[in-house]
Amino acid sequence: MIRTLSTRTVCCKLALGPEETIALQATARQFNAAATYCAAVAWRERVTNKNKLHHIVYGPTRVNYGLGAQLACCARDKAAEAVRTARTNGYETCPTFRPDSSVRLDVHTYRLMSLDRVSLYTLSGRVIGQLVLGAFQRRCLYDTSWKIGGADLVQRDGTFYLHVTQTKADPAPQEPTGFIGVDIGIVNVAADNDGETYSGAKVQAVRERRHKQRQALQQANTRRARWRLRKNARREARFQRDVNHQISKALVHKARTSRKALALEELSGIRARVTVRREQRRARHSWAFRQLRSFITYKARQAGVLVVVVDPRNTSRTCPVCGHCEKANRPDQAHFHCQNPLCGHTAAADTNAAVNIALRAARQTAYCAAPAMQEEQAQAQQVQRWVSDGSALFFRGLPSPPG
Ligand SMILES: [Zn+2]
Repeated sequence: MIRTLSTRTVCCKLALGPEETIALQATARQFNAAATYCAAVAWRERVTNKNKLHHIVYGPTRVNYGLGAQLACCARDKAAEAVRTARTNGYETCPTFRPDSSVRLDVHTYRLMSLDRVSLYTLSGRVIGQLVLGAFQRRCLYDTSWKIGGADLVQRDGTFYLHVTQTKADPAPQEPTGFIGVDIGIVNVAADNDGETYSGAKVQAVRERRHKQRQALQQANTRRARWRLRKNARREARFQRDVNHQISKALVHKARTSRKALALEELSGIRARVTVRREQRRARHSWAFRQLRSFITYKARQAGVLVVVVDPRNTSRTCPVCGHCEKANRPDQAHFHCQNPLCGHTAAADTNAAVNIALRAARQTAYCAAPAMQEEQAQAQQVQRWVSDGSALFFRGLPSPPG
């Protein structure tokens, strides 16, 4: 069994004096100009290997942008990673960075100090900032089982934030004694094969209300309305994320305590084949759906719970009792009713799908969990980017996100 590594990011607000703020802003400007230059070179020369790129850009970066040795390396890394991502996703233009984009920091360019202070390397020497920590962030940062790595210095609405990366080796997964099938949908956000459902009505009500609000604002299309839309999008993303955290936590806890593996539907490359209703299709390809999946996967990994993915075809219209599969088995969104005259099994539609998912997982002999998890991790990072740059809203309802 492969031991995997979990990564998490702790976001801390940074309190700075006026001089420190100016120093960091100037550093961010130069850093991102240098990163844009490095990216252009990497793009033109078709190099994404950091070592190869280093030999081409290191000298010019230091001379033309006045960066210290360490910051020059960080700018190169940021550029190389962005170019690699752009290439993988088939983008046709080279990535560039805004002057107020984030600054990559490593062990040489920042240091956490006592009393929640942080020392940051800038163009005009080191500056000391004060981390503004809540109880949650403090607990994360002071938890020595997580190793502190690099950080990103991020500016948003004139405030600096430090996003500290931490890593920890995952425990070996426990040997499962059974499977919990999980169906992710819209009537209930999630349902498992025991018939337990996870926060349906409340989320749905909030979503409906926000949806109406959004339509009204989109129609108005004034400056203020657009501002309001962005603000609402962020708020909605936070709400959704909170719900997804709660649900994934509950599911993983249940699997952990009952010594079972979690079974989810396979997601990649299935869109063309899957037969689901339009409304449900929208939900399946929304970022929220992917986010919940990625939360379940990473929490499971950290708790030593195995995740199994199964073929999603017809999970909602197959009868788990007699095996009869027919569209009419699912008369509406909420109900399942087996049309086989000898059977006639009835159940809640999502519970029924979850039962099928659990059955398929049990039938599947190979767990094949590792590659699936890497993919989930990539998805999680993508979702994180959408949420943090506010574009999450615009991906909702589109058939599928890019890449
Ligand atoms: Zn049946």
